Amino acid sequence: MRIDVVSIFPSYFDGLTLSLLGKARDSGILDLTVRDLRDWTHDRHRTVDDTPYGGGAGMVMKPEPWGAALDELAHSGEPGDTRPTIIFPSPAGEVFTQATARDLATRDHLIFGCGRYEGIDERVFEYAADLGEVRLISLGDYVLNGGEVAVMAMVEAIGRLIPGVVGNPESLVEESHEDGLLEYPSYTKPSVWRDREVPPILLSGNHRAIADWRREQQLERTRRRRPDLLDD
Ligand code: SAM
Repeated sequence: MRIDVVSIFPSYFDGLTLSLLGKARDSGILDLTVRDLRDWTHDRHRTVDDTPYGGGAGMVMKPEPWGAALDELAHSGEPGDTRPTIIFPSPAGEVFTQATARDLATRDHLIFGCGRYEGIDERVFEYAADLGEVRLISLGDYVLNGGEVAVMAMVEAIGRLIPGVVGNPESLVEESHEDGLLEYPSYTKPSVWRDREVPPILLSGNHRAIADWRREQQLERTRRRRPDLLDD
């Protein structure tokens, strides 16, 4: 999969050289490039923002650098090019879930555009729709200073679903949200730690009983912590 990220703070993404995604990049499973939006400006100050039409607080990201960035990244010029999925993180977008991550993990080319200030000139979203499928996606119902943290989270959630990124694919199946429930509690050695025992069923060797116990734990946890997940 190819992922392009555009930001005015590319160094936010240095963490994506580490751990499983770092290895996926080294091995070529994930072709991830982070670009500085200011590379598509042409003035001395490398300006990416201006005052809002109609007045109001804050600055708005100018359309010209975004248009030039999208033109370059959406058309790689390689034969067999497919239309990219262009994602703008936004608190006013659809909420990102595991289902969104699963869907986006099947795409060939994702472009993420990180907003800053009061956001990006609205016409950029309309223009991007001529180049690919546009998605405005929120990390949750709160406001961040910029799209970088949201994109980091999305890239990690999507990236770990790409075949070959997580060594044991089994570990993806049993996780929270994969079957609409939260994951069961996990324990490791020692079996007694500070007077707290591991539930005896997990030491029984009875795989059927362990599976039933874990399922019950998943339901109980989900009922208690996230009853909204059981509504559907
Ligand atoms: N004025 C915008 C609004 O009220 O919808 C918020 C702008 S916010 C300060 C700047 C940028 O941070 C946004 O353009 C977006 O890229 C990012 N951002 C903020 N909160 C976010 C969230 N919950 N999910 C995803 N991106 C977010």
